[in-house]
Amino acid sequence: MTRLVDGRAIAAAVAGRTAAAAAALRAAGVRPVLAVLLPTGDPGAAWYARSIERAAAQAGVDCRVHRLDGTAGAADITGRLAGLSADPGVQAIICQTPLPPGVSLAAVARAIDVAKDVDGASPASLGQLAAGLPGTFAPATAAAVLEILHHEDVALRGRRAVVVGRSTVAGKPIALLLLAEDATVTVCHSRTRDLAAVCREAEVLVVAAGRAGLIGPDHVAPGAVVIDVGTNPQPGGGLAGDVDSGAVTGIAGLLTPVPGGVGPVTTALLIEHTVAATRAAPAR
Ligand code: NAP
Repeated sequence: MTRLVDGRAIAAAVAGRTAAAAAALRAAGVRPVLAVLLPTGDPGAAWYARSIERAAAQAGVDCRVHRLDGTAGAADITGRLAGLSADPGVQAIICQTPLPPGVSLAAVARAIDVAKDVDGASPASLGQLAAGLPGTFAPATAAAVLEILHHEDVALRGRRAVVVGRSTVAGKPIALLLLAEDATVTVCHSRTRDLAAVCREAEVLVVAAGRAGLIGPDHVAPGAVVIDVGTNPQPGGGLAGDVDSGAVTGIAGLLTPVPGGVGPVTTALLIEHTVAATRAAPAR
């Protein structure tokens, strides 16, 4: 039997503890402020920014969206991120993707102060995560995968985990967090030979490839925990995951749906990270 994870319920639990922590800060006269930079007019990014704004409002966190006009280049984005980093009235910063053609997130996110980098976008944050140093935030998506595994009481120590995808925003930090929990981690990518055979070794399979339906019944060992990070817009509207959920139902032991799995937990953790960054910020 395959049990489906309720990501919205996990997000609600995260939001509850975040609202309590934000209320305690406000009672002490401190209001957390999250700045979201929208470097392009991409409609998907604008939609996501609105969902962040809603989650922030529910938790009592101020969210300020900064829209750049369609002509912004790397220097404009870097300049704005540096300005927000230097602003003592802002405790948390997210730079939304997509970026203009030819601009890499790692390059512009270097301008985000690590202490305010609540989506772990800066290469310095990723480096500190790899080094196991405290005081940095993992990308919220990677943190959401671990939040779900913890919430579902999935044991990780000594277990075989396979991550499909090696991007700096998803696959790599997910692998680092699993490693920090003493899992034995294999990372797959587009050049991996016999992906299905490698995935079948997984007791915990995390898929972040951005390929709808990549993972089918041949990739999943009976009883495996399957976390689907993929969000692939469908031609007729809606989102599909990287896992063919219908085909693996009955094989996987636990499965996250798309939508309603990793996504809502990611948004909730961005707000929790904002409150944590505010708590850690030096008194003004
Ligand atoms: P990305 O930068 O395009 O990276 C995709 C990774 O998957 C790459 O490492 C790529 O390998 C690998 N890959 C692609 N096709 C493959 C295949 N056929 N077999 C094995 N590996 C393959 O994407 P991303 O930014 O990491 O995002 C991945 C997915 O997660 C997307 O659907 C994205 O929308 C979603 N996402 C969701 C959330 C959320 O909150 N739920 C947040 C972030 C991202 P190479 O390195 O060899 O090219």
